[in-house]
Amino acid sequence: MYQSTAALRTAFLEYFRKNGHQVVDSSSLVPVNDPTLLFTNAGMNQFKDVFLGEDKRNYTRATSSQRCVRAGGKHNDLDNVGYTARHHTFFEMLGNFSFGDYFKREAITFAWNFLTQELNIPKERLCVTIYDTDDEAYDIWTKEIGVPAENLIRIGDNKGAPYASDNFWQMGDTGPCGPCSEIFYDHGEHIWGGRPGTPEEDGDRFIEIWNIVFMQYNRQSNGDMLALPKPSVDTGMGIERIAAIMQGVHSNYEIDIFQALIKKTAEILAVTDLENKSLRVISDHIRSCAFLIADGVMPSNEGRGYVLRRIIRRAVRHGNKLGATDSFFYKLVPTLIEVMGDAAKGLVETQAIVVKSLKAEEEQFARTLERGLGILDSALNALSGNVLDGETAFKLYDTYGFPVDLTADVCREREITVDEAGFELAMSEQRKRAQAAGQFDTDYNESLKIDEETEFSGYIDLVSNSKITAIYKE
Ligand code: ATP
Ligand code: MG
Ligand code: MG
Ligand code: MG
Repeated sequence: MYQSTAALRTAFLEYFRKNGHQVVDSSSLVPVNDPTLLFTNAGMNQFKDVFLGEDKRNYTRATSSQRCVRAGGKHNDLDNVGYTARHHTFFEMLGNFSFGDYFKREAITFAWNFLTQELNIPKERLCVTIYDTDDEAYDIWTKEIGVPAENLIRIGDNKGAPYASDNFWQMGDTGPCGPCSEIFYDHGEHIWGGRPGTPEEDGDRFIEIWNIVFMQYNRQSNGDMLALPKPSVDTGMGIERIAAIMQGVHSNYEIDIFQALIKKTAEILAVTDLENKSLRVISDHIRSCAFLIADGVMPSNEGRGYVLRRIIRRAVRHGNKLGATDSFFYKLVPTLIEVMGDAAKGLVETQAIVVKSLKAEEEQFARTLERGLGILDSALNALSGNVLDGETAFKLYDTYGFPVDLTADVCREREITVDEAGFELAMSEQRKRAQAAGQFDTDYNESLKIDEETEFSGYIDLVSNSKITAIYKE
């Protein structure tokens, strides 16, 4: 039962609806009224003001399946794609929320019952983490739910500051915060990785499926933690990870949605090895790119548009690696619509513009891609160490339209890194020259800030064509 990802989505929302939750549509990937956020990256984003008490709804329990993008900004999983079994740039986060309604006991019980009764996942495969000092959660898990103590892991502060822990969530430096409890699934000892809290936890054996956040304090600017009068709950579960479990596979890329996209790409590009890593990357990137455009982001040289451009160019580069001789990326959109079911609504309405934008962007980049790759290849062949100089990376960026992360992506396949400081230097020298010549009209650093910042702030949507003209002036 609930084999397909679409059926799982419905089952989740229906379970929480039956338990008194209002089913709320996913919000846009472009956060509404929140300039601190690059892209929507969690189900709770659209409820931020409700949690802060600044917005009131006519319900106190909600559930949603939220489209999320984690590429750039605080949560950046772009470089994990193709390397882990569980990370995507775009994914759907299933969530249930309590706005001052139920708290720990109900939140834990809902999650556990959904997994073990509704989905029939064997209890022995699950382990749970809690925040070190959260004895209340410990007692609920062990005494009420019956999770054996050896499957319950306390995670403390590990980042050198109080409350800096994977199991302590905070909205910002001040405001609502609290401990969390995460549920992990053991895919079996044939897969490398250790339990959470061990040095091998970054492996793909124990995969985190569900994060349950207990908002119970209001942190003051002096660091005091005041108890919230009405504690709240925010949870998030990646649908692709739970779909992998239900479909009896290990990697998210083996689930129905990704297999359809991988097969389609392989068919278009006449690739026979379906395990090829580039197929995975492309099947990931088409989702973020198509949904970002559907939500109104257009490829550009700044802010959100530049993140989109970078992802498209990475996908096109992987297509080239697989032997693409013509535009292919946009051809995946109909398959994407088919496999995303209810979640594809916005994409259906905007399909024409999505296809057109992807095609135009690919054609534009294709003009310089081959030559740029040739230059990069020669530079890598001539390299004595394992670091590519910043000058070459900058030339690829400036003349051939290679975002530096794309160059780094190519280099990583040959275990080479890019001298990013050298790249920055070449960039600032170029800027000085442009300023001196009086031609300067775009900030060469603007497009890179996203990589450097831990939190995105101050998005300015300047649509500038001047630099792209410069890139293609050859
Ligand atoms: P991980 O430690 O695996 O990177 P996370 O702790 O960063 O995950 P949360 O911020 O807790 O993830 O998000 C809640 C849930 O969303 C996770 O438990 C996971 O199921 C899912 N999730 C998070 N990031 C991704 C991603 N990049 N791709 C797919 N699913 C994700
Ligand atoms: Mg993460
Ligand atoms: Mg985690
Ligand atoms: Mg987590």
